[in-house]
Amino acid sequence: MIHLGVYGNSKWSLLMKKLLENDYSEMLSQNGGERIAVDHFVVDEPSKEGEISVEFFLQKYLCGELSILVIPKEYYMQYNDLVFKLLRGGMNTDDIYNGIRLFDGFEGHKDLIPYLVTPMAEDPYLSYLEYHVADHCNLNCKYCTHYSPLVEQPVFTDLAKFEKDINQLKKYIKDIGVIRILGGEPLLNEELPRFIELSRSVYPGSLITVVTNAMLLDRINEELKESMRMNKAFFHISFYPPLEKKIGDIKKMLVDEKIPFTITDMIPEFNKTQTLKPNGDPDFFYHCFQAGCTCLHDGKIAPCYAPFTTKYFNEKYGKSLPTDEGIDLYSDELTVEKIKLSLLVPMARCSFCIAGEPHKWEIVGKNSTLEDWV
Ligand code: SF4
Ligand code: SF4
Repeated sequence: MIHLGVYGNSKWSLLMKKLLENDYSEMLSQNGGERIAVDHFVVDEPSKEGEISVEFFLQKYLCGELSILVIPKEYYMQYNDLVFKLLRGGMNTDDIYNGIRLFDGFEGHKDLIPYLVTPMAEDPYLSYLEYHVADHCNLNCKYCTHYSPLVEQPVFTDLAKFEKDINQLKKYIKDIGVIRILGGEPLLNEELPRFIELSRSVYPGSLITVVTNAMLLDRINEELKESMRMNKAFFHISFYPPLEKKIGDIKKMLVDEKIPFTITDMIPEFNKTQTLKPNGDPDFFYHCFQAGCTCLHDGKIAPCYAPFTTKYFNEKYGKSLPTDEGIDLYSDELTVEKIKLSLLVPMARCSFCIAGEPHKWEIVGKNSTLEDWV
């Protein structure tokens, strides 16, 4: 008998347990394999019988009581944090499995049972992908981790090149949980509707969000509004202090226009997260909350945006922090597994990040000094 855990306690986790213990076990035993027992639901805060914490799951895993964790695809929002927590805790990537996308009525589709679970590294799936449509920004926050205030001239992503790149990615990655279109400020790019449509056409099952500081949201045109509605995209508003006076009107407009949105709490502080001296912590990456912000840029994919935007910092201050990183999507030797596993490994650039101290949010403008960043 194979003893394992299933992440979560939603109806999808319950369905996954039922399918693993019945239809999937039946299929395994007919092929000479062992049956499966789902001993526990693994949750962040256990409250019911049968539920255990991630930490307790790891204890049971390390002493051999549980051998696998299955993560249903419906947990794409928690997915990256969870995987990094499991890896930090000593779990082998081979023992983390992704569930198939479940849906109401799934039980009637016996033909899908062989594909119920897939080892994480072999699954042509990413829980998260982000990409810039503009590197510059209209707000220019001090400590912006994307270095947007250091972008001297407008830099827009080339739509035709991006179309080629996202279709190249699709050759390996067939499904994505959430796609975040951002920058810089994405509303500065007049072609934003085309990027939304392209993302939807290549990844029809993904959640698509446009991440914005919303300072320009009160003047978006009908074309963008229609594209948001047609492609079931929503705005995610990062709420910085200058938005306070406008936010009421913006929310009303979005409700009236039937465009869904989410909004953060007011962000009064930013952490200064950069250092010029290597941080000396080879495990920093596994604690970094941005390490799962998989970024697509100019034919490459990387665990975060930093390898693609650090050039602005280097150019401005004459530094040479690592930039030439990320996986080339056009490499001949590329496989799904190579992409997946390389996204779980620290980059040279990670040595120049620290947790940092919080500082009051303020605008830095275009005339920042090195001390504003490190
Ligand atoms: S709003 Fe601020 S943090 Fe966000 S991209 Fe613009 S400058 Fe950077
Ligand atoms: S470079 Fe590495 S440590 Fe820095 S933000 Fe990106 S993933 Fe995190």
